Amino acid sequence: MVLLGQMQLVRIVAHHEDPRVAADLFASEGIAAIGWSSLGDLGSKTRKEIKALIQRQWKTSEQESARMTWELLTLRDTVKVGDTVFAYVRDNTVALVGEVVRGYEFNNSNKVGNKSGPVGYAHQIGVRWRDAPRTFSRFLLPKGLSDWVAGRGTIGIRNYDRDDLERTINKISPGTHIAAKKAGREKNLDPKIRGPPWTRDEDVLALALYKSTGSSHDDEDPEVAELSRLLKRTSAAVVFKLGNFKAVQTKGRAGLSHFAPMDLKVWREFDGHDSELYQEAEKIRNGIYARFKDREVGQIEDLARRLMKEGRLSTERLSQVLPRQKGAALRDAVLENYGGKCAFCDLDIREMLVAAHIRRWTDDSENRYNLSNTLCLCVLHHSAFDNGLLTVSDDGTIVVSQNLRKSNSRAVRSALLNLDNTKIRMPLSYPPGKQFLADHKRLFFNN
Ligand SMILES: [Zn+2]
Repeated sequence: MVLLGQMQLVRIVAHHEDPRVAADLFASEGIAAIGWSSLGDLGSKTRKEIKALIQRQWKTSEQESARMTWELLTLRDTVKVGDTVFAYVRDNTVALVGEVVRGYEFNNSNKVGNKSGPVGYAHQIGVRWRDAPRTFSRFLLPKGLSDWVAGRGTIGIRNYDRDDLERTINKISPGTHIAAKKAGREKNLDPKIRGPPWTRDEDVLALALYKSTGSSHDDEDPEVAELSRLLKRTSAAVVFKLGNFKAVQTKGRAGLSHFAPMDLKVWREFDGHDSELYQEAEKIRNGIYARFKDREVGQIEDLARRLMKEGRLSTERLSQVLPRQKGAALRDAVLENYGGKCAFCDLDIREMLVAAHIRRWTDDSENRYNLSNTLCLCVLHHSAFDNGLLTVSDDGTIVVSQNLRKSNSRAVRSALLNLDNTKIRMPLSYPPGKQFLADHKRLFFNN
């Protein structure tokens, strides 16, 4: 039921494989549509009949068939003339906004419904699509709408305040229309969101983020937020830039349908040279970072810790964070993995604990941030381990160097010799790698 002053909104995913082509056809035919056309005209079928047909055709589960039936019946029965429709495409982009002018119809002969056409969606409604806004970031919508429009499923329904909606759409309208097929029209974007033109260095940082993580980010993504703080640009501007690179990569078929000449230039400069790109990004990042004040530094350092916690600090992502961030993040992660205690003794004074590498990080840069190549050790045991006075067998047994047996020191006996043949404290999630331990024993241990 729609209350006074409210109206019903409909979201439809234009198409899962080729949403941009579908949206263009929706616009030219004045319709919106969804798939599963082989079910035929649903006009007079009951819910039960539709569900049975779906199960017969696609052997879908009970739950999946029910969902598909619900989606088809939403289009047929719930959508009403006068509703506002959003056609959503991938990459956080709304392609079209319009008003429903005609209810459900099965049509497999027009360009959208034709089985041999690019879309083949025959379950249709008539829509008068607006000339503007078109092809805009969903983040230009208020938060609630922005989340809803990108929600799960092919179709969705909600109520919304009529006046609010009109204001929202009008606010987007003026500068936001982007001619969908023409690349290079960034000037049509809302200048408030785009900000001043991006420099080459800024573009390199955004490209490194795009290459290592793809284009599907929203503006609350920690990596987007971090880059936005680093560049002092809005998160929406960063999200847009990732969409620009998608457009470059796909020659305008996906992502935003426009990009700046600089985007293309930077793309070509590093095309096929990922590691050079990441190195360059790290260099630029260090340069910007050096000019920051302490307070700003603190905000940005948070990122590496968050990524490490999520187990996401992969080699590509290392270019997103600075050496000092990485070091701090690694130490935090290792201490947490070992419950804040030395793996050899039970010393739990944080200031006296270190993230020790099993295979020395100077010898193996690839495993520098691999938690299975680390042990949490107190400073005494770290020093003993690094100097080959202690090692660990691959089953976790501590082995003490024979040389220490000659010592008369009580401290040596209590802190080192007593550990011989005892087991290390096993960590919560990343046990030390057997190969790393074997290498330490072979290469560094003074038997
Ligand atoms: Zn210890």
